[in-house]
Amino acid sequence: MSSTESTTTQSFADLGLSDSLLKTLADIGYETPSPIQAECIPVLLQGRDLIGQAQTGTGKTAAFALPLMEQIDVKLTKPQALVLTPTRELAIQVAEALQSYAKNLPGFHVLPIYGGQSYTIQLKQLSRGAHIVVGTPGRVMDHLERKTLNLDNLKTMVLDEADEMLRMGFIDDVEWILERTPAQHQTALFSATMPEQIRRVAQKYLVEPREIKIKSATATVAAIRQVYWQVSGMHKLDALTRILEVEDKFDAAIIFVRTKNSTVELADKLSARGYAAAALNGDLNQQMRERVIEQLKSGALDIVVATDVAARGIDVPRVSHVVNYDIPYDTEAYVHRIGRTGRAGRTGNAILFVAPREVSMLRSIERATRQPIAPLTLPSRADVTNKRVADFKAGVVEVLNAEGLDFFANIVSQIAEEQNVGAEEVAAALAMMAQKGKPLQIPGEDPAPSRPMADSRRPGSFGERDSKPRFEGRSDKPRTESSGDSRPRFEDKPRRASSGAPTGDMVRYRIDVGRDHGVQVKDIVGAIANEAGIESRFIGRIALYDESSTVELPAGMPKEADNALKRTRVRGVPINMRPDEGDARPEGERKFDGERKFKKRV
Ligand code: AMP
Repeated sequence: MSSTESTTTQSFADLGLSDSLLKTLADIGYETPSPIQAECIPVLLQGRDLIGQAQTGTGKTAAFALPLMEQIDVKLTKPQALVLTPTRELAIQVAEALQSYAKNLPGFHVLPIYGGQSYTIQLKQLSRGAHIVVGTPGRVMDHLERKTLNLDNLKTMVLDEADEMLRMGFIDDVEWILERTPAQHQTALFSATMPEQIRRVAQKYLVEPREIKIKSATATVAAIRQVYWQVSGMHKLDALTRILEVEDKFDAAIIFVRTKNSTVELADKLSARGYAAAALNGDLNQQMRERVIEQLKSGALDIVVATDVAARGIDVPRVSHVVNYDIPYDTEAYVHRIGRTGRAGRTGNAILFVAPREVSMLRSIERATRQPIAPLTLPSRADVTNKRVADFKAGVVEVLNAEGLDFFANIVSQIAEEQNVGAEEVAAALAMMAQKGKPLQIPGEDPAPSRPMADSRRPGSFGERDSKPRFEGRSDKPRTESSGDSRPRFEDKPRRASSGAPTGDMVRYRIDVGRDHGVQVKDIVGAIANEAGIESRFIGRIALYDESSTVELPAGMPKEADNALKRTRVRGVPINMRPDEGDARPEGERKFDGERKFKKRV
């Protein structure tokens, strides 16, 4: 395996993409390739196998999706590419991304297939013909077994978030699928980490892969206060304006977003909220760019909303804040971004917005900058009101000291006399008039405070927790990124009992797979999580027997989840889940002891 680290920023045109795709990218507003894209796209276009070490937020999806789009023959309505993802959320996201890159490819069809969705719908869609299938391993395996998915025309196979698939117990399924793909095809494997088993899979199934890793340069960013806000409960724009309003010593800000379309959108929205804001992106010519920077320097503008490339090298000492509205692609970009503040010996502030699924990027940044980034508590409505009142008072006091108030004092006296009220009431009426357009009090409720984030890659830790089991709705409607990270997470080791186990009522079910089928606890957890949409932490004690197993699940399971589980297969075996009536256990069956080696299915 040869290894490369990314260094340069190129344009999409340099990477060998077709004009039609370049046009699509321009329409979507992608300005430049992210480092992982710059490295991976040419390699994949050459047809080589690839290992990409990259996490969410690096732009890895487009890194494989764009070359895939170039290969598709729309006239051939057979699956030409298969993308395996650990969860249905990711399958949907990847399918949505592929669909968006197909804007100029009429007739293109991508199909997400995942557990929990009805087979009838999937069968209908498969028979209609999809060019790319994106699916979770279990469901893809089922379709291959039923011969409802045919991979004879497969040109490329992508394993996305391979380490997550391993953590979720799907790696055997992945290998099962890899063994049934045509010999001649390209394989791309993406993984945030490279555990031994993933390397082993890569060695076994990839042919002379290029290995690409994004650089995570360490750098010191001493004079900058760094905080992050976990995106939850409030729109990013509302959170941003709240933060900016209450931030101490706010003077000017550069706000980083990913696409040029977003620079314009956000700058417009901020202008509508009364900020002196403008967009800075690659569409601006040199003269216009300089003008924006000049205006930021002079104070004609307070906020510039920029893409990474457009903001490169800006040196404006009054920039007190950098906001990473969209998380950067890598730690290097982060360091460049926040270097736009804290200039000329001043202290700077860097605020990072992190969606739950981007938490591993946050941890990488902390490692690279060798500094912890503190969570930021969003200012409450009261905080904002207090700040607005303080500013309002300061404004009034300033005018009190001004000359020429007599004329107005006379008007106040007249009103007080005519209305038979005190001067204080008249002043209150005037204050109310004065705050029009920017009310001192903000309406609505504060969102519940977000909980500290946990890194999904740390065994046994979870992202957002709530106390009630959540049975995810199993609608066919694609989820959007804003739905947050609802992916089940798993411990690396099989568990004896549910750690952090639910406290509510549990029902014990029996399933028809056990040790003799080579099943492990993690296989059962993975299947249930994906098929019924039950987060792993709500799955209770699992006991493995030779021919069957029992599993405890929260009481009150919705009908659809129940039905889905009845149809679920683990390692290709229908589990036939039903309430456990205390079936007689065959002699010699023992509870799972965590140590015993299981018989491997042949
Ligand atoms: P990913 O790391 O693949 O989950 O991508 C994260 C986000 O970055 C997605 O919202 C993409 O649409 C966006 N994105 C990916 N590549 C680019 C690019 N070159 N320019 C701007 N945005 C991008």
